[in-house]
Amino acid sequence: MKLIYEQSSAGRRGVRIPASDVPAAGFLPPELLRTDSAELPEVSELDTVRHFTNLSRRNYSVDTHFYPLGSCTMKYNVKAVENAATLFADEHPLLPLLPGGLAHAQGSLGLLHGLGTALAEITGMDEVTTQPLAGAHGEMTGIMLIAAYHRAKGNKKRYVVVPDSSHGTNPASAAMVGYEIITVPTAPYGDMDLELFKAAMSDQVAAVMMTCPNTLGLFNPHIREICDIAHSYDALCYYDGANLNAIMGKVRPGDVGFDVIHLNLHKTFGTPHGGGGPGAGPVGVKSALIPFLPTPRIVKNGDDYVLETDNPRSIGRTANFFGNFGVMVKAYAYILLLGREGLIRVSEQAVLNANYIMAKLKGHYDIPYDFTCMHECVLSASRQVKQGVHALDIAKFLIDKGYHPPTIYFPLIVKDAIMIEPTETESRETMDAFIEVMIQAAELAESDPAAFASFPATMPVSRLDETRAARSQNVCFVGC
Ligand SMILES: *Cc1c(COP(=O)(O)O)cnc(C)c1O
Repeated sequence: MKLIYEQSSAGRRGVRIPASDVPAAGFLPPELLRTDSAELPEVSELDTVRHFTNLSRRNYSVDTHFYPLGSCTMKYNVKAVENAATLFADEHPLLPLLPGGLAHAQGSLGLLHGLGTALAEITGMDEVTTQPLAGAHGEMTGIMLIAAYHRAKGNKKRYVVVPDSSHGTNPASAAMVGYEIITVPTAPYGDMDLELFKAAMSDQVAAVMMTCPNTLGLFNPHIREICDIAHSYDALCYYDGANLNAIMGKVRPGDVGFDVIHLNLHKTFGTPHGGGGPGAGPVGVKSALIPFLPTPRIVKNGDDYVLETDNPRSIGRTANFFGNFGVMVKAYAYILLLGREGLIRVSEQAVLNANYIMAKLKGHYDIPYDFTCMHECVLSASRQVKQGVHALDIAKFLIDKGYHPPTIYFPLIVKDAIMIEPTETESRETMDAFIEVMIQAAELAESDPAAFASFPATMPVSRLDETRAARSQNVCFVGC
């Protein structure tokens, strides 16, 4: 495919820019005026449309294909929630803060308050702030709340405990707030080793961060006991809610004993993500932590929503304005569309789908923690590795077959991990087709392992240096 600059032909144009009505001289200081040509591509409208349409077709999305990226919950996002978000597109984010603006922003503030109330009900928490902009941002906000809580009580705490299956953002968030990390290994039963956890606990522990179901897709049967033990040391329990899609309407983290929780609206509640955002990571807390929540708090005063700003113990603002508001609209619309029964069915179907795939692939791949899974299953390519075929090679094979690969090499505790999360929105036919291709990969690894070196063959680029491709992208056309 030719780049747009390569299609440039002197004098060709797609638009006619109206004559400038800004005075040519005296308006801007001369040193800010450009003296050379901008060297923009000179192309027709049709060539431009084709160029960008063809580029867009290189994008992989849930709207075009199955996207079983484990831990990311790439579910289909119903278009109705997009329509809902556009209803608010004209509202300026500063409106509630302007003189007299509060009265005009009642609908938006009511929506944020309603969403917070719904999320608190779903998770069993007492109040939710919608400010944090992503899961990781929610984690950091949550750990800051926990630090503020301990400071207020005069507790001297040094450590945050995480299982070794945790998402990397958990220890990173705790470290950013100033804690040292204690990592507890996973036991053969696929969850944090309970005895090693007890040994790791002390009065110095500020919090225990748990993901449940964890990144192996397993629900920890000791989760209540873990919370009780943590509380006996006056440590708080943090729930990483990225996997909430597995448990809605079944278990409420707040009932189990969790004190702080973040949710990933872009995973569980109907917002498309990938490519870096936007997302939202609301944080829910139990009542003891409400005084520390970010400011302003949206509170209901009679029939009105008002902004409470004089919270001397608040950790302060964690986002501009009110967070990623459009994502909040989508999440609220999604919750209202599905209702209580609908959300329960989401989780039931997500869990059923993951178990279906795991059961079908069991004979073809190793399953290191072979238990009934929740909304995702983790295979290992260790059997294929004996033939020289790694998880990465299988991922590249899948690309040629038209699939976004599952998450690979995560969780870190599984060798050559392949983590599959089908989500509730996929049909049995779609999953069967994917299973078929996964079985083909396993068979090819047996019969012709050398073939994997050539995958992917159908893409504009083949094997990249994965690290450099992500970290040092070449996004400019001229002069680099
Ligand atoms: C996605 C994820 C996170 C981080 O969430 P972001 O919204 O990507 O910042 C944290 N923990 C788990 C288990 C996750 O899957």
